[in-house]
Amino acid sequence: MIKHFSAISTFAILKKRLKKMDDVQKITLNDVPSGKTCVIVKVNGHGGFRHRILEMGFVKGEHIHVIKNAPLRDPVEYKILGSHISLRRSEAKQIEVIELADYASDNDNFHGTINEETQEIIHERLKTINVALVGNPNCGKTSFFNYATGLREKVGNYAGVTVGAKTGIFERNGYTINIVDLPGTYSITEYSPEELYVRKHLVEDAPDIVLNVIDASNLERNLFLTTQLIDMNFRIVVSLNMFDELEKSCDRLNWKYLGQMLGIPFVPTTAYKGIGIDQVLDTIIDVYEEKKGLTKHIHINYGNTIEESITKIKQVVSVNQSIIDTYASRYLAIKLIENEKTTIQLLQKETVNFTEIEQVAEKQRKIITDEYHEDTETVITNAKYGFIRGALKETYVRTNTKFEDKATKIDNLLTNKWLGFPILLLFLWVMFQTTFTLGAYPQEWIEMGVDFLCRQVALYLPEGIFNDFMANGIIAGVGGVIVFLPNILILFFFISLMEDTGYMARATFILDKMMHKIGLHGRSFIPLLTGFGCSVPAIMATRTLENKKDRILTMLIIPFMSCSAKLPVYLLLVSAFFDQYQGLILLSIYLSGIIVGILVALLLKNTVFKKESEQFVMELPPYRKATLRNTGIHMWIKSAEYLKKMGTVILAASAIIWALSYFPQHNVKTHEYDHLISQCRENQLLSENQKTDSIVSLNYLKHSVQQENSYIGQLGKLIEPILRPLGFDWKMSVCILTGFAAKETVVSSMSILYHPNNVTVDDEDSRLIQALRTEKYLSGKRVGEPVFTPLVAYAFLIFILLYCPCVATVIACRKESSRKWSTFLIVYTTIVAWIVAFGIYQIGKLL
Ligand code: GDP
Ligand code: MG
Repeated sequence: MIKHFSAISTFAILKKRLKKMDDVQKITLNDVPSGKTCVIVKVNGHGGFRHRILEMGFVKGEHIHVIKNAPLRDPVEYKILGSHISLRRSEAKQIEVIELADYASDNDNFHGTINEETQEIIHERLKTINVALVGNPNCGKTSFFNYATGLREKVGNYAGVTVGAKTGIFERNGYTINIVDLPGTYSITEYSPEELYVRKHLVEDAPDIVLNVIDASNLERNLFLTTQLIDMNFRIVVSLNMFDELEKSCDRLNWKYLGQMLGIPFVPTTAYKGIGIDQVLDTIIDVYEEKKGLTKHIHINYGNTIEESITKIKQVVSVNQSIIDTYASRYLAIKLIENEKTTIQLLQKETVNFTEIEQVAEKQRKIITDEYHEDTETVITNAKYGFIRGALKETYVRTNTKFEDKATKIDNLLTNKWLGFPILLLFLWVMFQTTFTLGAYPQEWIEMGVDFLCRQVALYLPEGIFNDFMANGIIAGVGGVIVFLPNILILFFFISLMEDTGYMARATFILDKMMHKIGLHGRSFIPLLTGFGCSVPAIMATRTLENKKDRILTMLIIPFMSCSAKLPVYLLLVSAFFDQYQGLILLSIYLSGIIVGILVALLLKNTVFKKESEQFVMELPPYRKATLRNTGIHMWIKSAEYLKKMGTVILAASAIIWALSYFPQHNVKTHEYDHLISQCRENQLLSENQKTDSIVSLNYLKHSVQQENSYIGQLGKLIEPILRPLGFDWKMSVCILTGFAAKETVVSSMSILYHPNNVTVDDEDSRLIQALRTEKYLSGKRVGEPVFTPLVAYAFLIFILLYCPCVATVIACRKESSRKWSTFLIVYTTIVAWIVAFGIYQIGKLL
């Protein structure tokens, strides 16, 4: 009672003081003429803007001297903290100041006196925190308001009790807190007068802190509003109200962790009993004073398609400086995607390129509706719920499962502690098995086509160097790779299926939990997953990580996530040397990559990059039916990329490898064989059949000798000693070298080097596979032994999986980090590959 009484009397005093302050005309930095000095009292605008301005030194309480403020001239020049800085007018308009009469500055010093009244006003303004109470109807805002202010507003447990806004003022720890109780809303859109009212207040009155009251017993719905506040980039404090109810139920919420993930401090309260109110107010003051580590601005991830649209729209909106100082450009982009009238009207008034913005927005809306088959607003809403679902999945244990919807039930199964991982593995196994078995048919047709072409070329082109170049260089090289197009399409069909249905997000979720346990950043998983397609976009995707160390660590692991370019090598060798369990062996290669990645991550994390990992939300988007069209587009893009690579990198590499293996054509040994061949031709004792047989094998030996002495042979022989302990011959060494251009080239090189001359093609297996199976050592200790055994093949596959990534990846890494790290990437991956392949080969030999 006494508390309330004193609260009411101080309220009157405070109100008078505040009124006096309001009488002092509010001016911004833009209004201060040249030669005058002022003090910053407030920086408006959204979080991103304020952050930038603060970093430039425009901090509350700081003195600023206006050097040149000519009317109609942009930008304006200022002196702050001894240095000269220019600001655009639109930026200066967001900075509230109090002008100091009789005050000047020379060089680094300010002179003059500030009279007492001005001093008081400055102090008052700096220590006044404007707080807006925002939350769903009936979450306890008014109860909070009453307790904090000591006033007696009407509380009620039905919606619409608070119609207008009530203001309350009170003092706390030397701060004047000016709190506004806004009407309850479920969302800040434009569907009801309350919603528009709340939005208008938030934007126009620009509160310092938004106090978001959340009903802890209905988290999903309450957090929806929070996601909108996050989009708008306010400084938010959450009062997790009805905490008593949460405790009474047996549900468990890790609210601290939830807050960390959202970048917002959470404070549990029971407003109607006044529990937790003090803590909330202290937190508000801390956040107002920008106390380190309390808040962080996060982005709600809307999924690839929408994120791309957001980026495109942001680009055209960002031309308009003044509007993006007031509103976060990301927020405007999201609203444009939602096709929200209020925002469109605003932009129409405030932007110079509105037609262009509308055009871009319309195009992006179409792309999104085409992909999701739903209107864009629903898509955004679903994505927000996906975000919330993900955040709660990690922090909230519900005991009462009666009200769970279907999606949650499926989630519980797919991300189950025990079942989640086996289900994922099963799915992956089906994926790889199908890649093999179903892919075999079209693969055979393409092979037949390539063979046919090869024979035609041999038939119609005159014997000689050009014939050899076409048949054994270009067609063998490109043909060897193109046969894997169907397999790659099938793999991408599955990946696209996983993405479109929403299963990919669940898979990421399970893996993410695992990764958290071993200390890797969870968000790294998006780039890492992309790595299974291609390392280049994956490395670019590391930009989503805020911390540089996390980015580099992720970049260093990405090459171990087997990219699709390596698949042809696996397919070739697995089908050549393993008759059974082909899908499983393929899966084991992919898993080896993941395991090595994890181990290396752990090692680096505990040595080079010692640091705590950040918390973040892993979204769980709604489940959807995958559409044939989306999957089709996905597969088409992939095959176009693949074919383009065929026509460029692979073609060029094939030509070079062929040339290096073709020249020099002759040496002492080939001459010897030439001699033997002509002897054989003239030998009267041999029958015609015997003659042809001998000539074929002599030709093969001659070719082998020629190749061994060719430039590429010499190169291969040079590095062979390093790779011999892994069981590799010089040709494999060459393939490994050429794989640096692009991983598919490994297969091209094999097609060119392992000459299928001496093999007779039978119907079942391709010529190259036959050639690989029959390849024997022609000299050295192991002469006569087959080059490939399943063990050698497996060691080779693992080496290909792990060793230095292709040149495009290295360049991408250099662009995203530095030369130092890209060099490190080349060296350390190759060392890891060597060690693992060595282990496999040597241990395998013992067994
Ligand atoms: P508003 O609509 O957000 O302003 O919510 P009110 O402050 O009017 O409160 C709605 C109802 O919830 C009232 O009946 C309050 O007594 C009750 N209430 C408020 N805070 C709490 C709380 O922390 N726990 C419980 N159990 N009830 C609360
Ligand atoms: Mg109310």
